[in-house]
Amino acid sequence: MESGSEGTMDVAVIGAGIVGSSVAYRLSEEGAEVVLIDGAEPGSGTTSTSFAWVNANNKLPRNYFELNVAGMREHQRLRDEIGGCWLHSTGNLIWARDQEDLESRVERLRSWSYAAEILPASTVNEKLEPGAIFPNSETRVAHFPEESWVDAPALSRTLVEAAVRNGARALVGNEVRGIEVVDDGVTLRLKNGDAIRADAVVNATGARAASVAEMVGRELPLDVFPGLLVRVAVSGEPLHHLMHTPRINVRPDGPGYILLHHDSVDERLPGDFGGAEDPLCGELLKRAQSLLPALERAEVVEARFGMRPVPADGHSCVGALSAILGYYEAVTHSGVTLGPLIGRLLSREILTGEVDPLIAPFRADRFPSTQAYSST
Ligand SMILES: Cc1cc2nc3c(=O)[nH]c(=O)nc-3n(C[C@H](O)[C@H](O)[C@H](O)COP(=O)(O)OP(=O)(O)OC[C@H]3O[C@@H](n4cnc5c(N)ncnc54)[C@H](O)[C@@H]3O)c2cc1C
Repeated sequence: MESGSEGTMDVAVIGAGIVGSSVAYRLSEEGAEVVLIDGAEPGSGTTSTSFAWVNANNKLPRNYFELNVAGMREHQRLRDEIGGCWLHSTGNLIWARDQEDLESRVERLRSWSYAAEILPASTVNEKLEPGAIFPNSETRVAHFPEESWVDAPALSRTLVEAAVRNGARALVGNEVRGIEVVDDGVTLRLKNGDAIRADAVVNATGARAASVAEMVGRELPLDVFPGLLVRVAVSGEPLHHLMHTPRINVRPDGPGYILLHHDSVDERLPGDFGGAEDPLCGELLKRAQSLLPALERAEVVEARFGMRPVPADGHSCVGALSAILGYYEAVTHSGVTLGPLIGRLLSREILTGEVDPLIAPFRADRFPSTQAYSST
């Protein structure tokens, strides 16, 4: 059986998506002995199928909004700390059919000191998105200059590399099959038969978090919803911002590519989704072409089908379970916005016991465990 050295805390993190890699990196920065385990490549789970819009735009209530604002700031802080080209500070544009509702959202956000303004479509065309079609030149468009998108798989890989430089071990391609909670810590059983001993374990397995929670007898109420992103190849630079509109959401996805998404298409995803040839991909492209005529010759190059992990009340589920000593959860929707912040806040909780007021309303303990503990 493997175990870490004495005198430091040994923490096993299961899952190397944006959330787990953030937790592992921050723990390794703070001096913990970290082992990060993933059955697949870092960042290849839901993290690779995300629209990855970093925002607090429509996050309610106020305490969840504040958590997401702190998540946005954490990305800038992390970029200054570790470098890399994963954060794209493009800003975001929204136009909605219910113009009054959009204006009142902007008013509320401004009253909460969030950068937001309403512009007429003519100004948006003149200064921000020359190629976008709006119903008319007076259409009110909301502009959120501090929102951004992230290359989330690249960030996950960067965090894992940084954690490894700090001394963490990354075990890739080796699933956790069982967790045994013992008096002085936990023992993880891996697919290849190895056992890992640690003082604490973090469940950061995204859409599979409920089945990993079951390994310690914990019933984690988690909803899992499918989502579709379509990547298209384009010529030139037909788009500069994230854009959310009534029929299509678009954002740049690196030079020569744009990513397409819409909730109304996610709601119709069939069980036998046909990949890039599926008619829903063509539908998303058509919708995008009506917003950006320059996409006339764009081609679908990839369909990304992912599963959103959404704790039952829609908010993050982070922290210790008082009934299961040594077991922590880091499971959330909006995980791209929140991953780096959750990494810092959870790391502090694990190493010092201190719970930051920002995360206090979103603790795992608010969903009680049905069983105190049973080993697998
Ligand atoms: C269509 C779509 C759009 C989205 N848009 C946004 C957005 O605009 N902004 C935003 O902030 N969020 C968005 N999200 C949500 C966001 O992508 C997720 O919250 C986030 O990626 C979750 O990251 P994670 O690290 O928790 O999970 P994952 O990335 O899925 O990582 C979990 C990892 O755990 C591993 N694993 C699972 N079980 C085991 C096991 N037993 N042993 C070892 N390893 C295991 C998996 O292999 C995986 O690598 C979107 C999601 C979808 C699907």
